[in-house]
Amino acid sequence: MADPKGFLKDGREVATRRPVEERVKDWNEVYPDGIGRTLLPIITKQAGRCMDCGIPFCHQGCPLGNIIPEWNDLVWRDDWEGAIERLHATNNFPEFTGRLCPAPCETACVLGINQDPVTIKNVEVSIIDKAWDSGFVRPQPPEWLSGKTVAVIGSGPAGLAAAQQLTRAGHTVAVYERADKIGGLLRYGIPEFKMEKQHLDRRLDQMRREGTVFRAGVDVGTEITADELRERYDAVVIAVGSTKARDLPVPGRELGGIHQAMEFLPQSNRASLGEEVPDQIRADGKNVVIIGGGDTGADCLGTSTRHGAASITQLEIMPMPGEERPANQPWPTYPMTFKVSSAHEEGGDRVYAVSTKEFLGDEDGNVRALVLVDVVFDGGKLTEIEGTEREIPAELVLFAMGFVGPEQDGLIDQLGVELDERGNVARNNTYASSVEGVFVAGDAGRGQSLIVWAIAEGRAAAAGVDEFLTGSTTLPAPIPPTARPLVV
Ligand SMILES: Cc1cc2nc3c(=O)[nH]c(=O)nc-3n(C[C@H](O)[C@H](O)[C@H](O)COP(=O)(O)OP(=O)(O)OC[C@H]3O[C@@H](n4cnc5c(N)ncnc54)[C@H](O)[C@@H]3O)c2cc1C
Ligand code: SF4
Repeated sequence: MADPKGFLKDGREVATRRPVEERVKDWNEVYPDGIGRTLLPIITKQAGRCMDCGIPFCHQGCPLGNIIPEWNDLVWRDDWEGAIERLHATNNFPEFTGRLCPAPCETACVLGINQDPVTIKNVEVSIIDKAWDSGFVRPQPPEWLSGKTVAVIGSGPAGLAAAQQLTRAGHTVAVYERADKIGGLLRYGIPEFKMEKQHLDRRLDQMRREGTVFRAGVDVGTEITADELRERYDAVVIAVGSTKARDLPVPGRELGGIHQAMEFLPQSNRASLGEEVPDQIRADGKNVVIIGGGDTGADCLGTSTRHGAASITQLEIMPMPGEERPANQPWPTYPMTFKVSSAHEEGGDRVYAVSTKEFLGDEDGNVRALVLVDVVFDGGKLTEIEGTEREIPAELVLFAMGFVGPEQDGLIDQLGVELDERGNVARNNTYASSVEGVFVAGDAGRGQSLIVWAIAEGRAAAAGVDEFLTGSTTLPAPIPPTARPLVV
Protein backbone atom coordinates (compact mmCIF):
# COMPACT_ATOMS: atom_id res chain seq x y z
CA MET A 1 0.00 0.00 0.00
CA ALA A 2 1.18 3.57 -0.67
CA ASP A 3 1.08 5.93 2.33
CA PRO A 4 -1.30 4.27 4.87
CA LYS A 5 -2.44 7.71 6.11
CA GLY A 6 -2.03 9.61 2.83
CA PHE A 7 -5.73 9.96 2.10
CA LEU A 8 -6.33 11.26 5.65
CA LYS A 9 -3.68 13.96 5.69
CA ASP A 10 -3.33 15.09 2.05
CA GLY A 11 -6.02 16.63 -0.16
CA ARG A 12 -6.34 16.26 -3.92
CA GLU A 13 -4.04 18.59 -5.85
CA VAL A 14 -3.71 18.85 -9.65
CA ALA A 15 -1.11 20.49 -11.90
CA THR A 16 -1.44 24.24 -12.39
CA ARG A 17 -1.97 25.36 -15.99
CA ARG A 18 -0.19 28.34 -17.52
CA PRO A 19 -2.03 31.69 -17.15
CA VAL A 20 -4.77 32.02 -19.78
CA GLU A 21 -3.42 35.30 -21.19
CA GLU A 22 -0.05 33.61 -21.82
CA ARG A 23 -1.19 30.29 -23.24
CA VAL A 24 -3.75 31.62 -25.74
CA LYS A 25 -0.87 33.32 -27.56
CA ASP A 26 0.76 30.02 -28.51
CA TRP A 27 -0.14 26.44 -29.44
CA ASN A 28 1.94 24.63 -26.83
CA GLU A 29 0.39 22.40 -24.17
CA VAL A 30 -1.35 24.38 -21.46
CA TYR A 31 1.10 23.26 -18.71
CA PRO A 32 4.36 25.19 -18.14
CA ASP A 33 7.00 22.49 -18.68
CA GLY A 34 4.88 19.64 -20.00
CA ILE A 35 2.33 18.20 -17.62
CA GLY A 36 4.50 15.32 -16.32
CA ARG A 37 7.31 17.61 -15.19
CA THR A 38 4.88 20.19 -13.79
CA LEU A 39 3.39 17.46 -11.60
CA LEU A 40 6.62 16.03 -10.19
CA PRO A 41 6.78 18.15 -7.00
CA ILE A 42 3.28 17.08 -5.91
CA ILE A 43 2.76 13.64 -7.43
CA THR A 44 4.36 11.45 -4.73
CA LYS A 45 1.89 12.73 -2.14
CA GLN A 46 -0.97 12.36 -4.61
CA ALA A 47 -0.04 8.74 -5.38
CA GLY A 48 0.22 8.23 -1.61
CA ARG A 49 -3.51 9.03 -1.27
CA CYS A 50 -4.35 5.68 -2.92
CA MET A 51 -5.93 3.38 -0.32
CA ASP A 52 -5.04 0.12 -2.10
CA CYS A 53 -8.63 -0.99 -1.57
CA GLY A 54 -9.46 -4.68 -1.33
CA ILE A 55 -11.61 -4.32 -4.45
CA PRO A 56 -10.09 -1.52 -6.58
CA PHE A 57 -13.06 -0.31 -8.60
CA CYS A 58 -10.70 1.94 -10.58
CA HIS A 59 -9.55 -1.20 -12.48
CA GLN A 60 -13.09 -1.74 -13.63
CA GLY A 61 -13.54 1.94 -14.45
CA CYS A 62 -10.46 1.90 -16.72
CA PRO A 63 -11.23 0.23 -20.08
CA LEU A 64 -7.61 -0.94 -20.20
CA GLY A 65 -7.81 -2.53 -16.75
CA ASN A 66 -4.77 -0.48 -15.66
CA ILE A 67 -3.39 -1.86 -12.37
CA ILE A 68 -3.66 1.52 -10.72
CA PRO A 69 -2.99 0.80 -7.01
CA GLU A 70 0.24 -1.00 -7.92
CA TRP A 71 1.72 1.90 -9.83
CA ASN A 72 0.51 4.39 -7.23
CA ASP A 73 2.46 2.41 -4.65
CA LEU A 74 5.60 2.26 -6.83
CA VAL A 75 5.50 6.03 -7.45
CA TRP A 76 5.10 6.68 -3.73
CA ARG A 77 8.20 4.49 -3.15
CA ASP A 78 10.10 6.43 -5.84
CA ASP A 79 10.43 3.29 -8.05
CA TRP A 80 9.65 4.96 -11.38
CA GLU A 81 11.12 2.18 -13.52
CA GLY A 82 8.92 -0.36 -11.75
CA ALA A 83 5.94 1.96 -12.19
CA ILE A 84 6.35 2.31 -15.97
CA GLU A 85 6.82 -1.43 -16.34
CA ARG A 86 3.53 -2.03 -14.52
CA LEU A 87 1.76 0.71 -16.51
CA HIS A 88 3.04 -0.49 -19.89
CA ALA A 89 1.84 -4.00 -19.03
CA THR A 90 -1.73 -2.81 -19.71
CA ASN A 91 -1.36 0.42 -21.71
CA ASN A 92 0.83 0.87 -24.80
CA PHE A 93 0.48 4.67 -24.83
CA PRO A 94 0.04 6.23 -21.36
CA GLU A 95 1.31 9.58 -22.70
CA PHE A 96 -1.91 9.78 -24.78
CA THR A 97 -4.36 8.67 -22.09
CA GLY A 98 -2.54 10.57 -19.31
CA ARG A 99 -3.21 13.76 -21.29
CA LEU A 100 -6.50 13.07 -23.04
CA CYS A 101 -8.54 10.48 -21.16
CA PRO A 102 -11.69 11.65 -19.31
CA ALA A 103 -10.51 9.32 -16.51
CA PRO A 104 -13.48 7.07 -15.79
CA CYS A 105 -11.10 5.41 -13.29
CA GLU A 106 -11.33 8.50 -11.09
CA THR A 107 -15.13 8.51 -10.99
CA ALA A 108 -14.88 4.85 -9.88
CA CYS A 109 -12.16 5.50 -7.22
CA VAL A 110 -13.33 4.24 -3.81
CA LEU A 111 -11.93 7.35 -2.12
CA GLY A 112 -14.33 9.31 -4.35
CA ILE A 113 -17.36 7.91 -2.51
CA ASN A 114 -17.04 10.60 0.15
CA GLN A 115 -13.83 12.53 -0.68
CA ASP A 116 -11.99 13.80 -3.76
CA PRO A 117 -10.65 10.82 -5.74
CA VAL A 118 -6.98 10.04 -6.32
CA THR A 119 -5.49 12.01 -9.26
CA ILE A 120 -4.97 8.75 -11.19
CA LYS A 121 -4.62 10.32 -14.63
CA ASN A 122 -1.98 12.76 -13.35
CA VAL A 123 0.00 9.91 -11.77
CA GLU A 124 -0.21 8.04 -15.08
CA VAL A 125 1.21 10.92 -17.14
CA SER A 126 3.93 11.63 -14.57
CA ILE A 127 5.08 8.01 -14.79
CA ILE A 128 5.36 7.99 -18.57
CA ASP A 129 6.88 11.46 -18.94
CA LYS A 130 9.48 10.65 -16.27
CA ALA A 131 10.11 7.28 -17.96
CA TRP A 132 10.85 8.98 -21.31
CA ASP A 133 13.07 11.57 -19.59
CA SER A 134 14.96 8.80 -17.73
CA GLY A 135 15.47 6.54 -20.77
CA PHE A 136 13.25 3.76 -19.37
CA VAL A 137 11.19 3.51 -22.59
CA ARG A 138 13.14 1.41 -25.05
CA PRO A 139 12.17 -0.41 -28.24
CA GLN A 140 11.12 -4.02 -27.61
CA PRO A 141 11.71 -5.80 -30.94
CA PRO A 142 10.57 -9.42 -31.12
CA GLU A 143 13.13 -12.16 -30.48
CA TRP A 144 11.91 -14.23 -33.44
CA LEU A 145 9.66 -13.72 -36.45
CA SER A 146 6.54 -15.81 -37.06
CA GLY A 147 6.68 -15.44 -40.83
CA LYS A 148 3.09 -14.14 -40.78
CA THR A 149 2.07 -10.76 -42.14
CA VAL A 150 -0.62 -8.35 -40.94
CA ALA A 151 -2.00 -5.17 -42.52
CA VAL A 152 -3.49 -2.63 -40.13
CA ILE A 153 -5.66 -0.06 -41.91
CA GLY A 154 -5.81 3.24 -40.02
CA SER A 155 -3.16 4.72 -37.75
CA GLY A 156 -5.20 6.13 -34.86
CA PRO A 157 -4.75 4.79 -31.33
CA ALA A 158 -6.58 1.52 -32.14
CA GLY A 159 -4.41 0.74 -35.18
CA LEU A 160 -1.21 1.74 -33.40
CA ALA A 161 -1.99 -0.39 -30.32
CA ALA A 162 -2.84 -3.42 -32.49
CA ALA A 163 0.32 -2.90 -34.56
CA GLN A 164 2.62 -2.61 -31.56
CA GLN A 165 1.21 -5.74 -29.92
CA LEU A 166 1.41 -7.79 -33.12
CA THR A 167 4.92 -6.60 -34.03
CA ARG A 168 6.16 -7.51 -30.55
CA ALA A 169 4.51 -10.93 -30.95
CA GLY A 170 6.78 -11.55 -33.97
CA HIS A 171 4.44 -10.81 -36.88
CA THR A 172 5.45 -8.53 -39.74
CA VAL A 173 3.08 -5.57 -39.54
CA ALA A 174 2.40 -2.73 -41.99
CA VAL A 175 0.16 0.16 -40.92
CA TYR A 176 -1.62 1.91 -43.82
CA GLU A 177 -2.89 5.48 -43.44
CA ARG A 178 -4.57 7.61 -46.07
CA ALA A 179 -3.47 10.92 -44.50
CA ASP A 180 0.03 12.17 -45.21
CA LYS A 181 1.16 11.48 -41.65
CA ILE A 182 0.57 8.72 -39.13
CA GLY A 183 -1.58 9.20 -36.00
CA GLY A 184 -5.29 9.37 -36.87
CA LEU A 185 -7.20 11.80 -34.68
CA LEU A 186 -4.16 12.08 -32.39
CA ARG A 187 -2.41 13.88 -35.27
CA TYR A 188 -5.08 15.89 -37.06
CA GLY A 189 -8.05 16.02 -34.66
CA ILE A 190 -6.59 16.81 -31.26
CA PRO A 191 -4.93 20.22 -31.12
CA GLU A 192 -1.37 20.83 -30.02
CA PHE A 193 -2.50 22.63 -26.84
CA LYS A 194 -4.08 19.36 -25.61
CA MET A 195 -1.25 17.07 -26.74
CA GLU A 196 1.89 18.19 -28.51
CA LYS A 197 2.67 15.98 -31.50
CA GLN A 198 6.20 15.37 -30.19
CA HIS A 199 4.64 12.75 -27.88
CA LEU A 200 3.14 10.92 -30.84
CA ASP A 201 6.32 11.17 -32.93
CA ARG A 202 8.47 9.80 -30.10
CA ARG A 203 6.20 6.77 -29.78
CA LEU A 204 6.17 6.20 -33.56
CA ASP A 205 9.96 6.23 -33.52
CA GLN A 206 9.92 3.48 -30.88
CA MET A 207 7.48 1.46 -33.01
CA ARG A 208 9.65 1.84 -36.13
CA ARG A 209 12.66 0.58 -34.18
CA GLU A 210 10.63 -2.43 -33.10
CA GLY A 211 9.93 -3.24 -36.75
CA THR A 212 6.46 -1.84 -37.48
CA VAL A 213 6.32 -0.45 -41.01
CA PHE A 214 4.24 2.68 -41.69
CA ARG A 215 2.77 3.50 -45.08
CA ALA A 216 1.23 6.98 -44.98
CA GLY A 217 -0.60 8.56 -47.93
CA VAL A 218 -2.22 5.27 -49.06
CA ASP A 219 -6.02 5.15 -49.24
CA VAL A 220 -6.81 1.45 -48.93
CA GLY A 221 -9.77 0.62 -51.12
CA THR A 222 -8.56 3.05 -53.80
CA GLU A 223 -4.81 2.69 -54.17
CA ILE A 224 -4.81 -0.93 -52.98
CA THR A 225 -7.97 -2.98 -53.34
CA ALA A 226 -9.27 -5.21 -50.58
CA ASP A 227 -8.48 -8.26 -52.77
CA GLU A 228 -4.86 -7.18 -53.16
CA LEU A 229 -4.63 -6.62 -49.44
CA ARG A 230 -6.00 -10.08 -48.62
CA GLU A 231 -3.63 -11.64 -51.12
CA ARG A 232 -0.57 -9.93 -49.64
CA TYR A 233 -1.35 -10.33 -45.95
CA ASP A 234 -2.31 -13.24 -43.70
CA ALA A 235 -4.62 -11.05 -41.60
CA VAL A 236 -6.14 -7.56 -41.77
CA VAL A 237 -7.16 -5.22 -38.92
CA ILE A 238 -9.70 -2.54 -39.85
CA ALA A 239 -9.01 0.49 -37.62
CA VAL A 240 -10.37 3.22 -39.88
CA GLY A 241 -12.22 5.15 -37.17
CA SER A 242 -15.70 6.65 -37.27
CA THR A 243 -15.28 9.42 -39.83
CA LYS A 244 -18.80 10.14 -41.12
CA ALA A 245 -19.72 13.39 -39.38
CA ARG A 246 -23.32 14.15 -38.33
CA ASP A 247 -24.79 17.05 -40.35
CA LEU A 248 -27.52 19.61 -39.70
CA PRO A 249 -29.67 19.85 -42.84
CA VAL A 250 -31.67 22.98 -41.91
CA PRO A 251 -32.38 25.91 -44.29
CA GLY A 252 -29.22 27.84 -45.13
CA ARG A 253 -26.88 24.84 -44.66
CA GLU A 254 -25.40 25.53 -48.12
CA LEU A 255 -24.08 29.00 -47.13
CA GLY A 256 -20.35 29.73 -47.05
CA GLY A 257 -18.63 29.73 -43.64
CA ILE A 258 -20.38 26.58 -42.33
CA HIS A 259 -17.94 23.71 -41.79
CA GLN A 260 -17.53 20.40 -40.07
CA ALA A 261 -15.07 20.50 -37.13
CA MET A 262 -12.90 17.98 -38.96
CA GLU A 263 -12.52 20.41 -41.87
CA PHE A 264 -11.42 23.17 -39.49
CA LEU A 265 -9.22 21.35 -36.92
CA PRO A 266 -6.85 19.43 -39.23
CA GLN A 267 -6.01 22.62 -41.14
CA SER A 268 -5.35 24.47 -37.92
CA ASN A 269 -3.22 21.61 -36.57
CA ARG A 270 -1.09 21.77 -39.70
CA ALA A 271 -0.78 25.57 -39.58
CA SER A 272 0.11 25.56 -35.87
CA LEU A 273 3.10 23.36 -36.72
CA GLY A 274 4.28 25.73 -39.41
CA GLU A 275 2.75 24.19 -42.56
CA GLU A 276 1.40 26.47 -45.29
CA VAL A 277 -2.35 25.85 -45.57
CA PRO A 278 -3.84 27.56 -48.64
CA ASP A 279 -7.34 29.04 -48.02
CA GLN A 280 -7.26 27.97 -44.37
CA ILE A 281 -10.62 28.23 -42.56
CA ARG A 282 -9.87 30.82 -39.86
CA ALA A 283 -11.78 32.37 -37.00
CA ASP A 284 -9.89 35.69 -36.72
CA GLY A 285 -12.21 38.60 -35.96
CA LYS A 286 -15.33 36.48 -36.57
CA ASN A 287 -18.32 35.64 -34.41
CA VAL A 288 -17.92 31.87 -34.16
CA VAL A 289 -20.73 29.50 -33.26
CA ILE A 290 -19.87 25.89 -32.43
CA ILE A 291 -22.77 23.44 -32.53
CA GLY A 292 -22.07 20.57 -30.13
CA GLY A 293 -20.74 20.49 -26.61
CA GLY A 294 -18.27 17.54 -26.44
CA ASP A 295 -14.48 17.15 -26.83
CA THR A 296 -14.61 18.13 -30.49
CA GLY A 297 -16.54 21.30 -29.67
CA ALA A 298 -14.04 22.20 -26.94
CA ASP A 299 -11.18 21.71 -29.40
CA CYS A 300 -12.90 24.08 -31.87
CA LEU A 301 -13.32 26.57 -29.01
CA GLY A 302 -9.64 26.52 -27.94
CA THR A 303 -8.55 26.74 -31.56
CA SER A 304 -10.89 29.67 -32.37
CA THR A 305 -9.64 31.47 -29.24
CA ARG A 306 -6.06 31.13 -30.47
CA HIS A 307 -7.05 32.37 -33.95
CA GLY A 308 -8.42 35.54 -32.30
CA ALA A 309 -12.19 35.17 -32.80
CA ALA A 310 -14.35 38.20 -31.92
CA SER A 311 -16.80 36.02 -29.97
CA ILE A 312 -17.35 32.29 -29.53
CA THR A 313 -20.62 30.63 -28.57
CA GLN A 314 -20.93 26.89 -28.04
CA LEU A 315 -24.45 25.52 -28.40
CA GLU A 316 -25.71 22.34 -26.78
CA ILE A 317 -29.13 20.80 -27.35
CA MET A 318 -29.18 19.07 -23.93
CA PRO A 319 -29.86 20.96 -20.69
CA MET A 320 -26.90 22.16 -18.60
CA PRO A 321 -25.70 19.29 -16.41
CA GLY A 322 -25.30 19.79 -12.65
CA GLU A 323 -22.01 19.91 -10.73
CA GLU A 324 -22.93 16.86 -8.60
CA ARG A 325 -23.67 13.29 -9.73
CA PRO A 326 -27.35 12.84 -10.68
CA ALA A 327 -29.11 10.28 -8.49
CA ASN A 328 -29.51 7.89 -11.44
CA GLN A 329 -25.72 7.87 -12.12
CA PRO A 330 -24.34 6.76 -8.73
CA TRP A 331 -20.73 5.87 -7.88
CA PRO A 332 -18.87 4.09 -9.52
CA THR A 333 -20.49 4.96 -12.90
CA TYR A 334 -19.20 7.78 -15.10
CA PRO A 335 -21.65 10.64 -14.48
CA MET A 336 -22.77 13.43 -16.80
CA THR A 337 -21.65 16.51 -14.85
CA PHE A 338 -20.67 20.07 -15.79
CA LYS A 339 -17.05 20.05 -17.01
CA VAL A 340 -14.66 22.94 -17.56
CA SER A 341 -11.89 22.04 -20.00
CA SER A 342 -8.80 24.20 -20.50
CA ALA A 343 -10.51 25.69 -23.57
CA HIS A 344 -13.56 26.70 -21.51
CA GLU A 345 -11.31 28.46 -18.98
CA GLU A 346 -9.99 30.59 -21.84
CA GLY A 347 -13.30 32.14 -22.88
CA GLY A 348 -16.45 31.68 -24.92
CA ASP A 349 -20.07 31.30 -23.84
CA ARG A 350 -21.98 28.08 -23.48
CA VAL A 351 -25.69 28.05 -24.28
CA TYR A 352 -27.70 24.96 -23.29
CA ALA A 353 -31.07 23.52 -24.32
CA VAL A 354 -31.19 25.22 -27.73
CA SER A 355 -31.76 23.99 -31.25
CA THR A 356 -30.69 25.63 -34.52
CA LYS A 357 -33.62 26.25 -36.87
CA GLU A 358 -31.97 28.09 -39.72
CA PHE A 359 -28.80 29.76 -41.00
CA LEU A 360 -29.16 33.29 -42.45
CA GLY A 361 -26.85 34.56 -45.19
CA ASP A 362 -25.48 37.87 -46.48
CA GLU A 363 -25.52 39.11 -50.08
CA ASP A 364 -22.29 37.19 -50.86
CA GLY A 365 -23.79 33.85 -49.87
CA ASN A 366 -21.93 33.59 -46.57
CA VAL A 367 -23.50 32.88 -43.21
CA ARG A 368 -24.19 35.95 -41.05
CA ALA A 369 -26.46 34.59 -38.29
CA LEU A 370 -28.20 31.56 -36.79
CA VAL A 371 -31.81 31.32 -35.72
CA LEU A 372 -32.08 29.52 -32.39
CA VAL A 373 -34.96 28.29 -30.31
CA ASP A 374 -35.05 27.04 -26.71
CA VAL A 375 -36.05 23.39 -26.31
CA VAL A 376 -37.12 21.03 -23.56
CA PHE A 377 -36.91 17.25 -23.42
CA ASP A 378 -40.26 16.01 -22.31
CA GLY A 379 -40.53 12.23 -21.85
CA GLY A 380 -37.56 11.85 -24.20
CA LYS A 381 -39.27 14.05 -26.85
CA LEU A 382 -37.73 17.34 -27.95
CA THR A 383 -40.20 20.27 -27.87
CA GLU A 384 -39.50 23.84 -28.99
CA ILE A 385 -40.57 26.59 -26.58
CA GLU A 386 -42.84 29.00 -28.35
CA GLY A 387 -41.72 32.65 -28.50
CA THR A 388 -38.03 31.93 -27.80
CA GLU A 389 -36.77 32.18 -31.37
CA ARG A 390 -33.85 34.58 -31.74
CA GLU A 391 -30.91 35.39 -34.01
CA ILE A 392 -27.27 35.30 -32.99
CA PRO A 393 -24.49 36.62 -35.24
CA ALA A 394 -22.18 34.03 -36.81
CA GLU A 395 -19.67 34.46 -39.60
CA LEU A 396 -18.15 31.03 -38.91
CA VAL A 397 -20.22 28.00 -37.86
CA LEU A 398 -18.55 24.76 -36.84
CA PHE A 399 -20.40 21.44 -36.51
CA ALA A 400 -19.20 19.25 -33.64
CA MET A 401 -22.23 16.99 -33.32
CA GLY A 402 -20.48 13.64 -33.41
CA PHE A 403 -19.83 10.92 -35.94
CA VAL A 404 -22.15 8.24 -37.24
CA GLY A 405 -19.79 5.44 -38.26
CA PRO A 406 -17.05 4.45 -40.69
CA GLU A 407 -17.27 5.31 -44.39
CA GLN A 408 -18.58 2.28 -46.25
CA ASP A 409 -17.56 3.14 -49.82
CA GLY A 410 -14.22 1.63 -50.72
CA LEU A 411 -12.50 -0.65 -48.24
CA ILE A 412 -15.48 -1.78 -46.15
CA ASP A 413 -17.70 -2.48 -49.17
CA GLN A 414 -14.87 -4.27 -50.95
CA LEU A 415 -14.10 -6.48 -47.95
CA GLY A 416 -17.80 -7.33 -47.67
CA VAL A 417 -17.80 -7.31 -43.86
CA GLU A 418 -21.18 -7.26 -42.11
CA LEU A 419 -22.23 -4.07 -40.34
CA ASP A 420 -24.18 -3.85 -37.09
CA GLU A 421 -27.49 -1.99 -36.73
CA ARG A 422 -25.64 1.30 -36.15
CA GLY A 423 -23.55 1.00 -39.32
CA ASN A 424 -20.31 0.02 -37.54
CA VAL A 425 -18.31 -3.06 -38.53
CA ALA A 426 -19.82 -6.02 -36.65
CA ARG A 427 -17.41 -8.19 -34.64
CA ASN A 428 -17.45 -11.08 -32.20
CA ASN A 429 -15.72 -11.38 -28.82
CA THR A 430 -12.32 -11.93 -30.46
CA TYR A 431 -12.80 -8.78 -32.58
CA ALA A 432 -13.14 -10.93 -35.71
CA SER A 433 -15.45 -9.53 -38.42
CA SER A 434 -17.77 -11.71 -40.49
CA VAL A 435 -14.94 -12.25 -43.04
CA GLU A 436 -12.28 -14.76 -42.06
CA GLY A 437 -8.92 -13.19 -41.23
CA VAL A 438 -10.37 -9.66 -41.03
CA PHE A 439 -10.56 -8.06 -37.58
CA VAL A 440 -11.81 -4.66 -36.40
CA ALA A 441 -10.75 -2.34 -33.57
CA GLY A 442 -11.58 1.13 -32.26
CA ASP A 443 -14.24 3.55 -33.43
CA ALA A 444 -14.82 1.61 -36.70
CA GLY A 445 -16.41 -1.20 -34.68
CA ARG A 446 -17.38 0.51 -31.45
CA GLY A 447 -18.73 3.76 -32.90
CA GLN A 448 -17.40 7.16 -31.89
CA SER A 449 -15.70 6.72 -28.53
CA LEU A 450 -12.48 7.48 -26.66
CA ILE A 451 -8.74 7.00 -27.03
CA VAL A 452 -8.62 4.69 -24.03
CA TRP A 453 -11.21 2.40 -25.62
CA ALA A 454 -9.38 2.49 -28.95
CA ILE A 455 -6.15 1.35 -27.30
CA ALA A 456 -7.97 -1.34 -25.32
CA GLU A 457 -9.67 -2.62 -28.46
CA GLY A 458 -6.44 -2.51 -30.47
CA ARG A 459 -4.79 -4.68 -27.82
CA ALA A 460 -7.70 -7.09 -27.72
CA ALA A 461 -7.95 -7.34 -31.52
CA ALA A 462 -4.21 -8.10 -31.62
CA ALA A 463 -4.82 -11.06 -29.32
CA GLY A 464 -7.58 -12.26 -31.67
CA VAL A 465 -5.29 -11.93 -34.70
CA ASP A 466 -2.39 -13.68 -32.96
CA GLU A 467 -4.62 -16.61 -32.05
CA PHE A 468 -5.98 -16.76 -35.62
CA LEU A 469 -2.45 -16.81 -37.07
CA THR A 470 -0.76 -19.18 -34.66
CA GLY A 471 -3.53 -21.18 -32.97
CA SER A 472 -2.93 -19.71 -29.50
CA THR A 473 -1.90 -16.41 -27.93
CA THR A 474 -0.28 -15.02 -24.83
CA LEU A 475 -1.23 -11.46 -25.72
CA PRO A 476 -3.61 -9.91 -23.17
CA ALA A 477 -7.18 -9.29 -24.32
CA PRO A 478 -8.59 -6.67 -21.98
CA ILE A 479 -12.24 -6.50 -23.00
CA PRO A 480 -14.67 -8.40 -25.13
CA PRO A 481 -16.95 -5.82 -26.84
CA THR A 482 -20.01 -6.70 -24.83
CA ALA A 483 -18.61 -7.29 -21.37
CA ARG A 484 -18.15 -3.92 -19.73
CA PRO A 485 -20.91 -2.50 -17.58
CA LEU A 486 -19.26 0.87 -16.79
CA VAL A 487 -19.68 2.39 -20.23
CA VAL A 488 -18.55 6.01 -20.84
C1 LIG B 1 -11.64 16.62 -32.49
C2 LIG B 1 -11.67 15.40 -31.63
C3 LIG B 1 -11.17 15.47 -30.34
C4 LIG B 1 -11.16 14.35 -29.53
N1 LIG B 1 -10.65 14.45 -28.28
C5 LIG B 1 -10.61 13.36 -27.49
C6 LIG B 1 -10.05 13.43 -26.20
O1 LIG B 1 -9.62 14.49 -25.73
N2 LIG B 1 -10.00 12.29 -25.46
C7 LIG B 1 -10.47 11.09 -25.93
O2 LIG B 1 -10.36 10.07 -25.24
N3 LIG B 1 -11.01 11.00 -27.16
C8 LIG B 1 -11.09 12.10 -27.95
N4 LIG B 1 -11.65 12.00 -29.19
C9 LIG B 1 -12.08 10.68 -29.69
C10 LIG B 1 -10.84 9.86 -30.12
O3 LIG B 1 -9.94 10.68 -30.83
C11 LIG B 1 -11.24 8.65 -30.95
O4 LIG B 1 -12.15 7.88 -30.19
C12 LIG B 1 -10.04 7.79 -31.32
O5 LIG B 1 -9.06 8.52 -32.00
C13 LIG B 1 -10.48 6.59 -32.17
O6 LIG B 1 -9.33 5.90 -32.56
P1 LIG B 1 -9.31 4.98 -33.85
O7 LIG B 1 -7.92 4.44 -33.93
O8 LIG B 1 -10.44 4.01 -33.80
O9 LIG B 1 -9.62 5.93 -35.09
P2 LIG B 1 -9.00 7.31 -35.62
O10 LIG B 1 -8.17 7.99 -34.61
O11 LIG B 1 -10.16 8.05 -36.18
O12 LIG B 1 -8.03 6.85 -36.80
C14 LIG B 1 -8.54 6.23 -37.97
C15 LIG B 1 -7.56 6.47 -39.11
O13 LIG B 1 -7.90 5.64 -40.21
C16 LIG B 1 -7.61 6.35 -41.39
N5 LIG B 1 -8.35 5.75 -42.51
C17 LIG B 1 -9.70 5.74 -42.67
N6 LIG B 1 -10.02 5.09 -43.81
C18 LIG B 1 -8.85 4.68 -44.38
C19 LIG B 1 -8.51 3.97 -45.58
N7 LIG B 1 -9.45 3.53 -46.41
N8 LIG B 1 -7.19 3.75 -45.84
C20 LIG B 1 -6.21 4.19 -45.00
N9 LIG B 1 -6.49 4.87 -43.86
C21 LIG B 1 -7.78 5.11 -43.55
C22 LIG B 1 -8.07 7.77 -41.08
O14 LIG B 1 -7.44 8.70 -41.95
C23 LIG B 1 -7.59 7.90 -39.64
O15 LIG B 1 -6.29 8.45 -39.59
C24 LIG B 1 -11.70 13.12 -30.01
C25 LIG B 1 -12.24 13.06 -31.30
C26 LIG B 1 -12.24 14.18 -32.10
C27 LIG B 1 -12.82 14.12 -33.47
S1 SF4 C 1 -6.35 5.22 -19.16
FE1 SF4 C 1 -7.96 6.65 -18.48
S2 SF4 C 1 -9.33 5.36 -17.24
FE2 SF4 C 1 -7.39 4.23 -17.46
S3 SF4 C 1 -6.12 4.80 -15.66
FE3 SF4 C 1 -5.58 6.23 -17.32
S4 SF4 C 1 -6.91 8.01 -17.00
FE4 SF4 C 1 -7.80 6.31 -15.84
